[in-house]
Amino acid sequence: MTLAELQNGQEAVITKVKGHGAFRRRIIEMGFLRGKKVSVIKNAPLNDPIEYQILNYLVSLRRAEAALVEVVPVEEYEEINGRQFYGTEPNGNGPEKPVNNKGKTIEIALVGNPNCGKTSIFNFASGSNEKVGNYSGVTVDIKKSTFSYKGYRFNLYDLPGTYSLSAYSPEEIYVREHIRLQMPDIVINVVDATNMERNLYLTTQLMHLDVKVVMALNMFDEFQQRGDQLDYRHLSKMLGIPIIPTVGSKGKGLTALFDKVISVFEDRAHDYRSVRVNFGQFLEDSIGKVDDCIKQNNDLSVEIPPRYLAIKLLEHDKEYIKLLKKAGFTEILDLAEKERDRIEDETREDAETVFTDARYGFIAGALRETYKENPVIRRKVTDAIDSVLTHKLFGFPFFFLFMWVMFQTTFSLGAYPMTWIENGVALLSGYLDKVMVEGSFKDLLIDGVVGGVGGVIVFLPNILILFFFISFMEDTGYMARAAFIMDKVMHKIGLHGKSFIPLVMGFGCNVPAIMATRTIEDRNNRLLTILINPFMSCSARLPVYILFIAAFFPEYPGTLLFILYGTGILMAVLIAKLFKRFIFTRTDQPFVMELPPYRMPTMKAVVRNMWHKGQQYLRKMGGVIMIASIIIWFLGYYPRESSNSQAMATEIENINNHYESRVADASEEDHADILAVKYNEISKLEEKIHREQQEESYIGRLGHAIEPLIEPLGFDWKMGVSLLTGVAAKEVVVSTMAVLYQSPDHGEADNSLLINNIRNEKTADGQPVFTPLKALSFMMFILVYFPCIAVIAAIRKEAGAWKWALFTIFYTTALAWLVAFGVYQVGSLLGF
Ligand code: GDP
Ligand code: MG
Repeated sequence: MTLAELQNGQEAVITKVKGHGAFRRRIIEMGFLRGKKVSVIKNAPLNDPIEYQILNYLVSLRRAEAALVEVVPVEEYEEINGRQFYGTEPNGNGPEKPVNNKGKTIEIALVGNPNCGKTSIFNFASGSNEKVGNYSGVTVDIKKSTFSYKGYRFNLYDLPGTYSLSAYSPEEIYVREHIRLQMPDIVINVVDATNMERNLYLTTQLMHLDVKVVMALNMFDEFQQRGDQLDYRHLSKMLGIPIIPTVGSKGKGLTALFDKVISVFEDRAHDYRSVRVNFGQFLEDSIGKVDDCIKQNNDLSVEIPPRYLAIKLLEHDKEYIKLLKKAGFTEILDLAEKERDRIEDETREDAETVFTDARYGFIAGALRETYKENPVIRRKVTDAIDSVLTHKLFGFPFFFLFMWVMFQTTFSLGAYPMTWIENGVALLSGYLDKVMVEGSFKDLLIDGVVGGVGGVIVFLPNILILFFFISFMEDTGYMARAAFIMDKVMHKIGLHGKSFIPLVMGFGCNVPAIMATRTIEDRNNRLLTILINPFMSCSARLPVYILFIAAFFPEYPGTLLFILYGTGILMAVLIAKLFKRFIFTRTDQPFVMELPPYRMPTMKAVVRNMWHKGQQYLRKMGGVIMIASIIIWFLGYYPRESSNSQAMATEIENINNHYESRVADASEEDHADILAVKYNEISKLEEKIHREQQEESYIGRLGHAIEPLIEPLGFDWKMGVSLLTGVAAKEVVVSTMAVLYQSPDHGEADNSLLINNIRNEKTADGQPVFTPLKALSFMMFILVYFPCIAVIAAIRKEAGAWKWALFTIFYTTALAWLVAFGVYQVGSLLGF
């Protein structure tokens, strides 16, 4: 609640004063301190300004200003801080405890370079499972976690990684807007101790933001191993920022870190003070002038720290200039422009460079006094490994080898747990078959739910293995190398090496991959990366491949997977080239790609990451896939009667009668033989009934309706139906098939049966429905067409317009048709 929301006569206690500069100083001088009571005397006729009483005198504030003061009702405040009214502390820890601890909630933002360990710290602190990875851009979305520590509620935010707070990438803007608008009580600046110089650059910018900063000196284990030396206590004094060494991946130092956060929050820490980077007389003159001009506009200095804004304007920060232009602050802009010209004239340099150099000068100075590096082993190991893995020639074979091993293992190792799960599912449906009474509910449960979900859950091990590999590559730092060696290639198709990681992530799931494109600064490049991402065959498509490979290409599983994934990649390349040529024609800017040192990831991190994905998969199983299975089962089960089911029933009746009379005539010992013949005939008929019912069911009609469209691809109506249902999620293709190709006498919903059914499926004239060629054409279609609903939603969100989402739906599906058509027709011509 803010002061502005109070009604006439209401009373409340101040918990926090936001805002900056002159406003903040003035209002604090007036006595608006936390823990003080305020009451509303009256609202002016137009509701602005409002008159308040504080410390026995009256003050009037504008509504906008009052909105920057956070308050809680008096009763609530007394409840939270109840004990303070007894005067003494029961536990004897009185002096440690502040008198007024403002609602006891601390808002904390984790800010730091990509890959410095923010998410690791976040995970340890909150016990959550966010993905950590050894390359830039894993954290694209903000994560929040709430936990209690020493009687405080911590609201911890994991922000995207940034190198700076300029306006070049969406992350940078995001982070600085978060700090400006959310005004966290404390910013934890996570710093990679093995890379002080670059990491401190961001710190120098935070120092101007009027926020309280506590530094987590992370990667301290590696730092120590290297034998470098840093007098961080001294550095802390120079920067005015408390520094706590941490090892994020192991959770070391976090208690000390959060203790420090509390003491800084309570203004008890003596190592905290406000320090500014001194830019030297020449620059400071300009900063001072612009700063003064900004301060004259109260509105502005409430919103943004004036000195920070002054520097940003002098650096020609596009976003802030836009903001000020919109609000009509031409006077300030003109002055900044004039001063910038002065700087550029004098230095013959771009103003931004001048400021950057000054910041690095500050850092170099600070480190000169405190840092000694061990010259011998620096980056030696990493360099040695890199000389092989990113070698001009050997780099690629290694890369492809890794990829192939990944796919081969996914398939072969996954086969073992797959049989266990299959057996489990078969046991379950067998058991249900035994104990339940006949009826549509039993059919729903066994064929719909167990058959559908069971058909998909068996792929969980494969998916976990794939994610294990991806996590491992990310965490070791190999993924960044892969991006590096792919950079040249990516440039050939008009993309950045940076686009490579979202593309590889797409093998897991296209949704997070599309979100990960946020690290790409250039909008065109970003859009392009988003649009081709669905060609990176996601893990949900894997079950389809595994099923068909097992049925038709059991001898070369790894190779075939490799071909499929390869085709996806090839498709992405071709489409990228095409789009670059005709849609996104602008050339883009060069960029730096960093190579983090190699790191052996902790098993815990990799497994946690993998499991996190597995959980998502299971959740999908219980949600979308279960519902889709039930709907599909329903559409296939009804109507129960087919057009000539009456006639069939009579026929069965006749057979029964016929054999009954034969049994009556025959001798004892022939009975068994006669009955066997009878059952054989009846079961053939029953299968025919089942087939006819299915064809005339709702789903059968739907499939038949689209048959003309897919016939040239060699697909029958059941495949058509599977493709339709796959729009919800690709795994549903398999569960649909599990339901559609189930034989009438259920009870064995395992996969080997499904494989058999698919192999033996016959058309009405006795031809096999599937051939290896049709299977391939089908898999190709699955690879390329309509990604899935979730991906379309992600594209809509990330690209910012429905246009691109709809475009993706249509162009991928059209392309899928063409590819499948090509494979089938050419293959048929060649006689496969
Ligand atoms: P973020 O990009 O800042 O969120 O960084 P992450 O938390 O994803 O961490 C990047 C990598 O560094 C992961 O592989 C972590 O396991 C690893 N890591 C994080 N903190 C430490 C640390 O203190 N020491 C070491 N040796 N590795 C760490
Ligand atoms: Mg992260």
